[in-house]
Amino acid sequence: MAKSYDLLVIGGGSGGVRAARVAAGFGARVCVVEEYRLGGTCVIRGCVPKKLFSYAAGFSSLFDIAPSFGWSVKAGFDWATLMANKDREIARLEKIYGSLLSSSGVDVIADRAVIKSENSVTLKKTGQVISADKILIATGGSPFMPSIPGIEHAVTSNEAFDFKSLPKSIVIVGGGYIAVEFAAIFNGLGVETILAYRGAQILRGFDMHLREGLAEEMQHKGIRVCLATQPAAIEKTARGLCVTCTDEMQMDVDQVMYATGRRPNVRGLGLENVGISLGRNGEIPVDEFFRTSVPSIFAVGDVNGRAALTPVAIREGAAFAQTQFNGNPTRVDLSIVPTAVFSDPEIGTLGLSEAEASMEYPELRVYVTRFKPMIYSFMPTDTRMLMKLITDARTDRVLGVHIMGSGAAEMIQLVGIAVTMGATKADFDRTIAVHPVAAEELVTMKEPTYEIINGERR
Ligand code: FAD
Ligand code: NDP
Repeated sequence: MAKSYDLLVIGGGSGGVRAARVAAGFGARVCVVEEYRLGGTCVIRGCVPKKLFSYAAGFSSLFDIAPSFGWSVKAGFDWATLMANKDREIARLEKIYGSLLSSSGVDVIADRAVIKSENSVTLKKTGQVISADKILIATGGSPFMPSIPGIEHAVTSNEAFDFKSLPKSIVIVGGGYIAVEFAAIFNGLGVETILAYRGAQILRGFDMHLREGLAEEMQHKGIRVCLATQPAAIEKTARGLCVTCTDEMQMDVDQVMYATGRRPNVRGLGLENVGISLGRNGEIPVDEFFRTSVPSIFAVGDVNGRAALTPVAIREGAAFAQTQFNGNPTRVDLSIVPTAVFSDPEIGTLGLSEAEASMEYPELRVYVTRFKPMIYSFMPTDTRMLMKLITDARTDRVLGVHIMGSGAAEMIQLVGIAVTMGATKADFDRTIAVHPVAAEELVTMKEPTYEIINGERR
């Protein structure tokens, strides 16, 4: 048997890298095994390249507005430049992840790890066995695609990040985070974009005002949003791809991208060798301290199925290290998670949706405002900014904040501090407004738009 460690981390993504660095900081001997690229999904094919693409796409709206402020803009877009710059930036970040690990004293092994026993893993390429007191599974997730005829012609976000050329037209299947974000990206870059979602409204689980508001805005921006639409087959044709839906509708496009959810990376991980069984959605079940059913094996990040967001994976990795290597039992409270969707317009949201709040609280006050953003002062537009507060009428506590419009992602991070501290509507009201900004609406909504008493709107 080769080297032995206090902690062996499988996966060098957001959760794994944070756990490794924090544990090493407490004096643990740590090793990270990563089979692809350091940085994981977020850095290599998730949040970071996505946000860079979103910036690229966002210029088109600005170019539309610019003439009303006196500018004349002759815009052209070059996909190859964006790709080259994106690749360079990601390689830079990957390198930083490597140097942060090595400067923390963490060994990094470029290989695939398979769990062999409660305290050891086998490396796929070399066959070497590495032992450790504790093993942390931080293997993240991968895109899921349903099995329909011709699905091999479709791509996922992984491949979309590496398109050799920008398609002229695309169907994006799904109605969640990735589907609406990539619809905005491709539409903004001038691609004829269709979003095909099986349900009645996109972004299931989000507040209804945001769901309806975003679907409307997407259509104003030129995205064809097809609801209650489910592809049944994809065929290669002389012109590209033909998608036939269950209602027989057909769509001819250059590319079909599936954004139909992600599944935990557990296949071939050797969980059967230690008797770890999976949860309903293929996740590794853990307790509040990220312990699996095996005392020496832990799981953080997307693979444990709690919340598939980078800051959650990072927080879980740090909490695991605090608990196991610093004698400081640390939980991660996910009752209020501010989150953003980088659609166009952007969404920032936290806490309960109206539907969720109505089920938990007998008396609610709901404040909603929709207004034309100031940047459109000189031109007609259907675009509206939306802000919504949901409060518990009995305690005045703010239960949910939902924002759609430019800057929503940045706003929700800051509102998140107040709501995490337990802010009441009175706290919002006594906060002096900043003027003239959209966010001032959050502290100037005086009268409730409506109330909900025992589930009934009044
Ligand atoms: P990952 O970052 O996925 O890391 C897991 C690592 O484990 C990978 O590098 C993988 O190669 C490696 N691995 C897997 N199996 C093995 C093995 N057996 N041996 C060795 N290595 C292995 N979240 C946000 O908060 N904001 C966003 O804007 C956002 N945008 C996203 C956009 C897209 C397109 C996607 C796909 C995701 C996005 N996410 C976003 C989600 C975010 O990327 C994930 O929640 C986060 O990366 C999870 O971190 P993790 O450490 O759990 O896993
Ligand atoms: P989501 O779970 O957000 O959305 C999946 C979508 O696919 C849903 O609309 C779902 O429909 C639909 N779907 C699922 N199965 C099928 C099927 N068999 N046929 C047709 N449609 C189907 O997953 P994503 O892939 O968009 O993203 C994965 C996760 O990554 C997100 O949940 C989020 O946690 C994270 N992420 C975060 C981002 C951010 O913070 N900005 C950005 C991107 C990803 P239905 O609702 O009806 O089940």
